[in-house]
Amino acid sequence: MKNQIILDQIEKTIKKKRLMHAYLLEGKNKIEMKIASNRLIQSVFCQEKVDGLPCGRCSSCMRVISRIHPDVLILKPNGANIRVDDVRAVLIEMSKTSMEGGYKALLIEEAEKMNASSSNALLKFLEEPLGKKLLVLETENKGHILPTILSRVGSFHFLPMDKDELANGLKKEGVQSDLASDVSVLVDTLEEGKALAEEEGFQELRERVLAWGNLVLKKDGRAFINVSTSISPFIDSMKNEEKKQAQDRFFILARHFFEGQPNRQILGNALSKIEEAKVRVGRNVVFRYALESMTLDLLN
Ligand SMILES: [Zn+2]
Repeated sequence: MKNQIILDQIEKTIKKKRLMHAYLLEGKNKIEMKIASNRLIQSVFCQEKVDGLPCGRCSSCMRVISRIHPDVLILKPNGANIRVDDVRAVLIEMSKTSMEGGYKALLIEEAEKMNASSSNALLKFLEEPLGKKLLVLETENKGHILPTILSRVGSFHFLPMDKDELANGLKKEGVQSDLASDVSVLVDTLEEGKALAEEEGFQELRERVLAWGNLVLKKDGRAFINVSTSISPFIDSMKNEEKKQAQDRFFILARHFFEGQPNRQILGNALSKIEEAKVRVGRNVVFRYALESMTLDLLN
């Protein structure tokens, strides 16, 4: 597990009974963030703690995981936002006595989707004494959370999954092995990976990069022509943002293609030429020209 250190820290806090009232779990690793938020919430409900830690097996623990515990409320976006009406409604529920006589917990998913009024409603709640209440916020991006909220919660930053881990996860989801490996270098999460693997424009780009890369490996002069007949027209037909993204993806896929080659000398040379071309494009050299001269260098 990539973020074992955070889980260890959380467990230590639970054991010492020093849990805060509110936590923010931030990062692009939904799976491990979910494990951590389950642990936090279970810790206030578990009936059969083992060595001070939630057992993970009792009916309370099971109901937390299957999201049917009556004292665990879940708030998530309704459309593009977490609406203030939904925040208010859930906070009213939070202020009621718990169903089972202990804690009440609130989990907010995609907390970055709270707008200003939603955030302010939540802030008011955090400013009051919380008693037997636990709040857990999950977010991909802490930058979208009010600083006044951040100052009242304990935060943990989660690192994204390793690329190998991500590729394996995608394979388990049925993505073909080579494609999963290429996708894993472009995304941080399984959800993003699955979506990208299915995107037609991406598949098309990838096939063109692979065709070009294979010609370069064979030192076949058609690799040069391939730039102006295949890669460049495909990417240049796109508009602003999309075009910029496709150019970035070209360089990342090209790098990844050569990283898969066993010959270290070819790899080293290719990586430095690709980096050079990328820098030139960043300095406004026409994409096609930068790729053509890179390809000539690679063919020599
Ligand atoms: Zn338990």
